[in-house]
Amino acid sequence: MIPKIHIALLRAKGQTEGKLDFSFDGEQDWLDLPLVSFSSPVSCELFYEIAENGEVAVRAHLRFGLKGSCSRCLEPAEEEIFSEAEALFVPGEADEDEGEIPYRGGCVEPDGWLRECVIFAIPPVLHCAACKQEDNNK
Ligand SMILES: [Zn+2]
Repeated sequence: MIPKIHIALLRAKGQTEGKLDFSFDGEQDWLDLPLVSFSSPVSCELFYEIAENGEVAVRAHLRFGLKGSCSRCLEPAEEEIFSEAEALFVPGEADEDEGEIPYRGGCVEPDGWLRECVIFAIPPVLHCAACKQEDNNK
């Protein structure tokens, strides 16, 4: 479950930063790799910092597992993925060319961004231990 960050509420309480721990399920259609699926939910640590002007700087540490068939030899393969991402959520109008993400109603909903982060972190191939070894020896 991906939580919302209630910025208006936090600001009313005088809280300007915090951290959320949660996990959510990756979806099969995020994966471009044939014969590969998520082997664990995506676990996420999300740090946020709320600026005076309402902009919210967000940093996420993501961890998830993939398992399936090796892209080269079809033997069983699995991999643990770690990824970090940052974003700036801006109230009202955002400059999306600058990578800013708009939010409305005093509430940041990081779902769409986190989905993009996971998709971006997925490697183009999954290799079994033997094929990884072979790559390292090249
Ligand atoms: Zn292999």
